Amino acid sequence: MYKCSYYEDRSIELYQKWLLALTEREALTPKKVSYQDILAVRIEPGRHLVEFYIEVPYRPGRLARALQIMAEHGVTIANICGQSTREKGMDFILADFSESTSTPEEVAKALREDQLLQALKVEYFEPEHRGIFYEALGFPLTIDNGKIPIMVVSRMMLLGMLRTVRETFGTGGDVIVYKQAFEGAARIARYFRERLAGLSSKDLFRWHLNVLFSVGWGIFEVEEADGVLVIRARDLFESSEPPPYPRMGCIFTRGYLAGMVSTYFEKQVEVSEVKCRAVGDDYCEFRVKL
Ligand SMILES: [Zn+2]
Repeated sequence: MYKCSYYEDRSIELYQKWLLALTEREALTPKKVSYQDILAVRIEPGRHLVEFYIEVPYRPGRLARALQIMAEHGVTIANICGQSTREKGMDFILADFSESTSTPEEVAKALREDQLLQALKVEYFEPEHRGIFYEALGFPLTIDNGKIPIMVVSRMMLLGMLRTVRETFGTGGDVIVYKQAFEGAARIARYFRERLAGLSSKDLFRWHLNVLFSVGWGIFEVEEADGVLVIRARDLFESSEPPPYPRMGCIFTRGYLAGMVSTYFEKQVEVSEVKCRAVGDDYCEFRVKL
């Protein structure tokens, strides 16, 4: 169901040729290990990567037992992520079968039948092409324990979209981007305000900035002086590429902050950007008069 084949219309020979060229290119690419990668894509031709999803009872040592079973089959772990509730542990394991003489089905069977593990669920997904891996068992992604469905959008893509609107419509485009961000922020802020009812406006505002940090928007600091909120944003997504137009400004972030402040503090505010990384400052700095 989740498989979209991308070589059906080609002959096997053409595909093999393409794979060989990819393998050669990959061999020449310097390898960098990134601990920040989420489990979504791995392009490592030849490496036999298989995704497992395992649910086990919430008891000490169950994950260790699952990994031990995999180790006994000569499987090494390429990536692992998981969490537990009081009822069960849920783990995604990217298993490397390159050195294993067992099949994924044999390992799945061993996991399902193990008396110590007492697995509640064992699923696996083997991509059609060895070493060209995409995550398939976790759709749709969520945060807040399944309450908010999310999707991952690259900075490159989002910036491209913002850039298109601003270049096509000029200052009118700025207004559109600002309003879009404002409305989006207000919607999420209303959700957080309800979810964390009782927290002060300032604490909600800080919480929201911390969540933006968690999902990769930038690193935020906030301080207040004489009724003015000063928000500094380092490595902000919006200023991570040089500006395509002479007007300075992270207008999406300005609109977003305005939407947050307006919702949490219940007043209409103006947000100004007084420093911007895109024009050479070390960070972007925004100011809001409360
Ligand atoms: Zn900026």
